[in-house]
Amino acid sequence: MAKSKYEYVKQFEKDDSLIPNTWLVIRLDGHGFHKFSDRHQFEKPNDHRALDLMNKCAEAVMIEIHDIILAYGQSDEYSFILKKESNLFNRRSAKIVSTIVSLFTSNYVFHWKTYFPDKELQYPPSFDGRAVQYPSNNNLRDYLSWRQADCHINNLYNTCFWALVHSGKTENEAENALRGTISSDKNELLHSSFDINYNNLPEMYRKGSVLIRKEANLMTLNQKGVEVIRKKKVVTTSHVDIIHDKFWKENPELNV
Ligand code: ATP
Ligand code: ATP
Ligand code: MG
Ligand code: MG
Ligand code: MG
Ligand code: MG
Repeated sequence: MAKSKYEYVKQFEKDDSLIPNTWLVIRLDGHGFHKFSDRHQFEKPNDHRALDLMNKCAEAVMIEIHDIILAYGQSDEYSFILKKESNLFNRRSAKIVSTIVSLFTSNYVFHWKTYFPDKELQYPPSFDGRAVQYPSNNNLRDYLSWRQADCHINNLYNTCFWALVHSGKTENEAENALRGTISSDKNELLHSSFDINYNNLPEMYRKGSVLIRKEANLMTLNQKGVEVIRKKKVVTTSHVDIIHDKFWKENPELNV
């Protein structure tokens, strides 16, 4: 096609491709979800429906983008891990991040009604996103450990905070009561004042959600209309520890 005299502006677009042979981590996070969760009356500290909706969106992203080997989510954030060899969009950062974030966001709105059948969306939610490259398996493991440790720390704090608030303290008083406390103090507070054993809370709250592809047996019909078992990789969700070696030993196909 003939070029117009305006064509030169294309040169202002700078190369943002990510270097080869590194793990790509795309993390997205809900914009202003403190307010969003307030406006939509999320249950505190953990609204199960909201987490299920996040997981549904992450699954939809994984079904669409095959190079994602694992996704990890907690609160209003999700991290997607693309395999080292991925050549998705020629590894152009903006293309990868914007596609994943918009796919996630449109799914969030698309599926909202299923998870909150009696709540209208009050305004359109949005998510930000970034890409980070990790050169070694160890770096990737540490990244995921960082996010899961964050989930634990926040959840322990939030569980105490909301137990205090639900028991009649103001948010200020609850904050003051928790200032300077360490993990064992918080466990003790939950146990002695609220009869809550932290370790018995749902795993999704304590550990977040881990999505990977697992081979499953699917019943399908062959050309002759006979039922046959076909092996297919399906996205599975669990709420397991990914800090220690066990998970990685059990899933060697991840190559991490
Ligand atoms: P930013 O735009 O900087 O990310 P933010 O308000 O989204 O600001 P975050 O640090 O991302 O702040 O925290 C997300 C907040 O959303 C949590 O602190 C919590 O209040 C709320 N939230 C997210 N998911 C849930 C959930 N499933 N149940 C209850 N509250 C939730
Ligand atoms: P890519 O994912 O690379 O962007 P694409 O199929 O979206 O691929 P584009 O170059 O962005 O390719 O072109 C968008 C295409 O969408 C157009 O070529 C046209 O076929 C279609 N399209 C977009 N808007 C309209 C519209 N309003 N009416 C009819 N067709 C449209
Ligand atoms: Mg943020
Ligand atoms: Mg946020
Ligand atoms: Mg967040
Ligand atoms: Mg297009």
